[in-house]
Amino acid sequence: MKPIEEILERENKLSAYDLLGCRHHFPVLRQQVNGKPLVYFDNAATSQKPQVVIDTIMRYYQEENSNIHRGVHYLSERATRAYEAAREKLQKFINAASYEEVIFVRGTTEAINLVASSYGRTNVKRGDEVLISALEHHSNIVPWQMVCEEKGATLRVIPMNDKGELQLDQYEKQLTNRTKIVAITHVSNAIGTINPIKEMIAMARLRGIPVLVDGAQAVPHMKVDVQDLDCDFYAFSSHKMFGPTGVGILYGKKSLLEAMPPYQGGGDMIKSVTFEKTIYNDLPNKFEAGTPSIASGIGFGAAVDYLKNIDMQGVATYEHELLTYATEQLSSIRGVRIIGTANEKAAVLSFVIDGIHPHDIGTILDDEGIAIRTGHHCAQPVMQRFGVPATARASVAFYNLKDEVDVLVRGVHKVIEVLG
Ligand code: PMP
Repeated sequence: MKPIEEILERENKLSAYDLLGCRHHFPVLRQQVNGKPLVYFDNAATSQKPQVVIDTIMRYYQEENSNIHRGVHYLSERATRAYEAAREKLQKFINAASYEEVIFVRGTTEAINLVASSYGRTNVKRGDEVLISALEHHSNIVPWQMVCEEKGATLRVIPMNDKGELQLDQYEKQLTNRTKIVAITHVSNAIGTINPIKEMIAMARLRGIPVLVDGAQAVPHMKVDVQDLDCDFYAFSSHKMFGPTGVGILYGKKSLLEAMPPYQGGGDMIKSVTFEKTIYNDLPNKFEAGTPSIASGIGFGAAVDYLKNIDMQGVATYEHELLTYATEQLSSIRGVRIIGTANEKAAVLSFVIDGIHPHDIGTILDDEGIAIRTGHHCAQPVMQRFGVPATARASVAFYNLKDEVDVLVRGVHKVIEVLG
């Protein structure tokens, strides 16, 4: 690999935004792995963190650490202000109508479990249906299966074609007066398909059916406006969008959230408690029992500030260029098959190589300093649909370079040389 500065300079000329500046913000990318410069292509699993997010978390523990919402002392008020400011940043980032619609949770998984448990258990009855898609991550399958099992309801699945695109004609037929909620992913983590969710939400809306969108893989890569989408719930995780682990957001329309029972009981979610009766707190606290991950919430706010300064349209264009280039390069190698070839795709490239197990691909690439993910990507039904047990998956972020794609391609050639 050429000296990093030289590559950055060249790549910077290719992209619509300041790639050179951005890449320097991520200290973890500066290291060598197995004697080679780290090439990080596991962004769909978790993204790297810019220095400003790391510094914000450190400063919180050095200067502000205190429990929030309860104390009257200086530190507690300061920590509360910083935490609530993060909520407001997130509200603006997704264009929610009110801060009350922005619930801090542990991540996408908890957000979906909250809706399944609270909205689902209240509204889904025997004989009803919950509609999900063939592209879902396990976290948008299992919570709904649990509700359906408990209530005697049926889980229906929107099918996909061989490219990995949902079949909207089938979807339309599956929306009936038995459907109590639609839960669909915005972008598939396993094969990168971008679903036409605005259209899908409108189709459900015509029939008065609420829609939850799993936005874990969308928010880091494109502008998301929940009012424009008109979704009822939108779930995402901080750690996939350059923020810390342990925190995420459930967006929900106020009217729905107000009607829903609490998800968990405990401190902070109450106004008053006696042994006879508890009065629940107002939104958003009604859904936020117990001490949250305060430092992570504040760090999440810093990640949003960071993203606000980045041209997201430029990011989408650049990542698409990388995806197209990587797809051309990899699919021209004999024995390599790309899994998921939707027309609308985010920068997730899943592939298999004839006769070689994906785990072996991952191990040999790791020797070259390349981090990719291998396995079923928590989407076993997607693997079953394509008749493979697992795939190798390279997923990019805006700090990845075209030159790194070349390193990956050379690595894949090496895998075939060694194991093919
Ligand atoms: N949905 C999708 C599409 C995802 O990619 C992921 C993470 N791989 C999740 C849900 C779960 O997110 P988390 O583990 O952050 O809760």
